[in-house]
Amino acid sequence: MFDFQVETTKHSTIFQSNTLFDVLIIGGGPAGLNAALYAKRKGILVGVITKEIGGQLHNTSEVDNYLGIMNVHGKDISDQFLKHVNALDIDILKDVSVTSLEKRDDDFYLSLSNGQVLTSKTVIMTSGGAPRQLSIPGETQFQNKGVSYCTTCDAPFFKDKHVIVAGGGNSAAEAVLDLVPWASKITVIHRSKWRADQVLLDKHQTISNLTVHLETQILEVLGQTNMTGVKVLDKTTNEIRIIEADGLFIEIGTVPNVSILREKVMQNESGEIIIDAHNMTSCPGLFAAGDVTNIPYKQIIIAAAEGAKAALSANQYINKNYKEKTHV
Ligand SMILES: Cc1cc2nc3c(=O)[nH]c(=O)nc-3n(C[C@H](O)[C@H](O)[C@H](O)COP(=O)(O)OP(=O)(O)OC[C@H]3O[C@@H](n4cnc5c(N)ncnc54)[C@H](O)[C@@H]3O)c2cc1C
Repeated sequence: MFDFQVETTKHSTIFQSNTLFDVLIIGGGPAGLNAALYAKRKGILVGVITKEIGGQLHNTSEVDNYLGIMNVHGKDISDQFLKHVNALDIDILKDVSVTSLEKRDDDFYLSLSNGQVLTSKTVIMTSGGAPRQLSIPGETQFQNKGVSYCTTCDAPFFKDKHVIVAGGGNSAAEAVLDLVPWASKITVIHRSKWRADQVLLDKHQTISNLTVHLETQILEVLGQTNMTGVKVLDKTTNEIRIIEADGLFIEIGTVPNVSILREKVMQNESGEIIIDAHNMTSCPGLFAAGDVTNIPYKQIIIAAAEGAKAALSANQYINKNYKEKTHV
């Protein structure tokens, strides 16, 4: 039985000192926390800098596909990960962003949102992703006035309301399940066919107030003070019509958080950081893992495993390249 107590990060002074870290990890999601665990167990000096702990796990209501941990809330897995990391006494700087990253000579310099600059021999980028937008008229205007990207956070605001879910992947399929206890009516709109796992779609079969419009594209979010509906194009008939609704949950995946690395490493056409089999980016000593990379299938277990690989590779890189250097 797991003890899902809320964990806090330890207060560390190492970040105030003039330390040359072996590895600094950017991000405290599954990839970053597991990278930290593996780095610490190799005996190298590791620090984690993160805006918050858990990353996208906080948007995840039910996780049932992480081997050995059945049917738990994303937040509970996050607490369990942090508990493990805390047990190893890993230094974490929380509520802070890395705003830029430079490599000079052999070392990396990370500028932080609190004004500090940290130095490290290697860096592991695990900054994950942020919700992808539809980029249609009305989307920004009605954000928090009907438009949302997180059912876990906002579903209760739509009690007894009609809500639309945009998307056809696992995130959209899960969003529908999150909305069932709250919404009076749920409509899925997706521009092509379902791509979600069958196990999720099977659960939809019992939802009586669910309507699905496939091959249908949302063109605009409509409203005045709050959103009142969406304008859609039925791609099979070419008909444009309006669907009235109180809310729109946009669940079409994520875009990688790569702004601090732009043009410093090779990225693919989706902006994901390209890594090799050892999680190395095109910049020697700079590694990446999890949803921010070009590795397919954005999942917790994959992000965590990739974090482990990145830490082991960083350790190997340090052993090869920094034999003579010592900590200052
Ligand atoms: C609604 C939803 C449901 C999901 N359901 C499941 C599921 O059931 N099963 C499953 O396996 N996966 C699920 N996923 C996917 C899973 O959550 C992700 O694959 C996983 O969280 C990726 O981990 P990560 O560590 O790569 O990135 P993230 O979880 O995105 O973590 C990134 C971390 O980096 C930090 N960060 C970003 N930029 C900076 C910066 N500049 N400076 C400092 N810190 C920074 C963030 O604060 C965060 O802590 C779901 C995702 C969503 C959105």
